Amino acid sequence: MAKQRALIIGGSVGGLFAANLMRSIGWDATVFERNPDELTGRGAGISTHPQLHDITKRLGIPFDETMGIHIDTVVFLARDGREYERRPTERLMSSWGRVFRSLRDLLPPDSYRLNMTLARIEQDTDGVTAIFTDGSRERGDILVGADGGRSTVRELFLPDRQPEYAGYVAWRAMLDERDVPPEIHAHLFENYTYCLPPGELFLAYPVPGRNNETEPGKRAYNIVWYRPTHPDKLADLCTDATGKSHGSSIPPPLIRPDVVAWIRGETRALVAPQVAEIFERDPRPFFQPIFDLDTPQIVFGRVALLGDAAFLMRPHPGAGTTKAALDAATLADALAAHGADAGLALYQRRQGAFGSGIVQQGRRDGAYLTDQLKPREQRRNKDLSWGVDDLMRDHEARSAEVLRIFNASRNLA
Ligand SMILES: Cc1cc2nc3c(=O)[nH]c(=O)nc-3n(C[C@H](O)[C@H](O)[C@H](O)COP(=O)(O)OP(=O)(O)OC[C@H]3O[C@@H](n4cnc5c(N)ncnc54)[C@H](O)[C@@H]3O)c2cc1C
Repeated sequence: MAKQRALIIGGSVGGLFAANLMRSIGWDATVFERNPDELTGRGAGISTHPQLHDITKRLGIPFDETMGIHIDTVVFLARDGREYERRPTERLMSSWGRVFRSLRDLLPPDSYRLNMTLARIEQDTDGVTAIFTDGSRERGDILVGADGGRSTVRELFLPDRQPEYAGYVAWRAMLDERDVPPEIHAHLFENYTYCLPPGELFLAYPVPGRNNETEPGKRAYNIVWYRPTHPDKLADLCTDATGKSHGSSIPPPLIRPDVVAWIRGETRALVAPQVAEIFERDPRPFFQPIFDLDTPQIVFGRVALLGDAAFLMRPHPGAGTTKAALDAATLADALAAHGADAGLALYQRRQGAFGSGIVQQGRRDGAYLTDQLKPREQRRNKDLSWGVDDLMRDHEARSAEVLRIFNASRNLA
């Protein structure tokens, strides 16, 4: 009997988890990625959860010391650089590129096709057809939309559901370990560092290097700085040097030089000088406006949404990659146990509940930042100051919370 075939739209981590797990249950799976060139990690660091480690292990990828960097200490730095709090922790920081590479290497080359942009979908009782912008057509038994937060697949079925701006952006910077000044490296590099300018959240930690190295000397230092940003200010940040507006996000190379100079000045004024120095040394800091989206439906006939295409969550639970992996594993298990129709229905029930729960968790975690744009008298006490205990409690509860939301969704038969 011919193998059943899954068409996977989107070749990032969600699409790769889906393709590898579908192949592990005996399906044929082909990934179609719109980019003409191989995707590369832009160095973005990611937190990881035990559920992610379990799924990579299931694919034969041990989540060992080559996958990320263990951190056992959290420090809080005051504006003048003084360390005012130090706590034990247990975190494993990986990078998008490291996870991507390990999943990509598992797939046979002809199962991953670049320069294929999905335009339309047709379905009938026997299967589904993907139609690409070059006019080519591919036929499969199911289609998985793993095409990210601005998903074409979701847009085709839910054109009125658009991601909502959360009211803040994440500024990001990265520096190779060898470029971190030695005196700063000695005190800072191995720790997870917080600075808490009023109403903001600044995080810094080591991640695998640009080519995924985890050996000392070859790693990188990653900064994520959440800053409440009014929509008018965001529109200005997203306007390039020619005056062209790019809407609510702008490609990093087009960020205006005066915006880069401004954010460097803000860094010097607001965060500890050690981390400000690292931020300033990155020649190309960039920002990501934070959006989220709770989705009422993730299965449409033979089409299923997965990862950020299904639910876009704020980054605070640090679980976007973990959720994409759990979506893919749940889909593969449901198809293996129940076949396409009943399997997709079970996927809708379980991952619909899980995704919605994680989006709500991200909103709770990010409420402090969103609420900063409200008039002061409308803010709750919690919004006016955010301290060590709040952050440590939220962090320590995070993996357990992701597990609790996931386990609750398993009870849906
Ligand atoms: C500031 C920030 C911090 C984060 N921190 C973490 C963290 O600590 N831990 C964590 O786990 N996650 C984190 N995330 C989230 C994580 O990056 C995403 O959840 C994850 O990359 C989702 O993967 P995905 O495959 O679903 O989507 P994406 O990575 O967005 O990939 C979608 C792919 O689909 C392709 N595509 C789009 N349209 C089409 C089309 N029409 N045809 C063909 N291909 C198409 C795109 O080119 C892209 O390659 C963070 C995100 C942000 C913004």
